[in-house]
Amino acid sequence: MRRDKVFRFVTVAFAVGAFIGLVCGLAFGGAGSGTPKADALTTDTSPDASTVSSEVASEPAEPMTADRARAIGANELGQVLVVMYHLIDTEEGEWTRTPENFRSDIALLKAEGYYPINIRDLASGNIDLPAGKSPVVITFDDSSPGQYRILDDGTLDPDSAVGILQAAVQGGGWAPRATFFCLLDVTPKERELFGQPDLQREKLNNLVDWGYEVGSHTISHLDLAKAATEDVVWQLAESQMTLQELIGGGYKVSSISVPFGNYPDDDSILASGEYKGSPYGYSAAVSIATRASASPFSTKFNALHIPRIRGSANYLTDAIQNFKDHPELRYISDGDPTTVSAPADLADDLGELNSDLGRPVVQY
Ligand SMILES: [Zn+2]
Repeated sequence: MRRDKVFRFVTVAFAVGAFIGLVCGLAFGGAGSGTPKADALTTDTSPDASTVSSEVASEPAEPMTADRARAIGANELGQVLVVMYHLIDTEEGEWTRTPENFRSDIALLKAEGYYPINIRDLASGNIDLPAGKSPVVITFDDSSPGQYRILDDGTLDPDSAVGILQAAVQGGGWAPRATFFCLLDVTPKERELFGQPDLQREKLNNLVDWGYEVGSHTISHLDLAKAATEDVVWQLAESQMTLQELIGGGYKVSSISVPFGNYPDDDSILASGEYKGSPYGYSAAVSIATRASASPFSTKFNALHIPRIRGSANYLTDAIQNFKDHPELRYISDGDPTTVSAPADLADDLGELNSDLGRPVVQY
């Protein structure tokens, strides 16, 4: 299959080629609705909300000042790490992270002053984290079982990604935030909503209840650059609607990961459209790259083209090291999600402050 002409960057083409070959192996012809059967709706694993929310919102409201922003070293025009994971499984590989390595990735991020947010909050600029911390977005594609597994006794598998993330939350200094981009009708079947057909709805509800985000990865891992527009529109609309119906409670699916990192010719059909009279739309779309994302407050930010780095040893440690070598590029929170704080003298790579943020700006 020739895919190279649709990529913007040759390096990305290589990475994605490997992705296609090694990880996905998905069938793309599926056109059924893929609505899974789900009758289990237990809530036995509800989150400990008291330990989760206190960390973010405990600071007394106090207007941000230039002196405070300077003392914190706030730079909310800095870049943000968005990390992409696929399989979590026993054998480390190009697109597989072992539970042990994923656990150490999270421990490393925590130790280095990162704090998780969801992709929709990056896109909307709702970045709520303690002062002095840097946001990181952990994302998962393909909804494979190793990302979220429930054991035979009904407990959360501590070696699945969600088990590891929940343990990090329990350990303190971490919040239940990550974005899971799900598939609905694919081969292999175990990549439909994390496998375990009877538990799909329970898993989606748990994720949302705990604070994680559920996003679309289309219905069948469709290559949006190659498919007919009507198929693209159907998959964008149907995946959003099906996930929202499964989750219920008025949950809004607002983020999408474009399969293979491939965009349709006309990006605007991701943002909004109509299928058979019903509107659909996404406010965030993520792709594959080798760089950190611009801040949502920067002129360089494009919510429909949020770059992600791969969650494997060298990519992650290189990205963390790059921010150590260039601290002026790193997003540092002022601790107040309603105000944007940044140095007056910004590194050129960060772009410029967007003029229409609709919120107070503190420069120092
Ligand atoms: Zn995928």
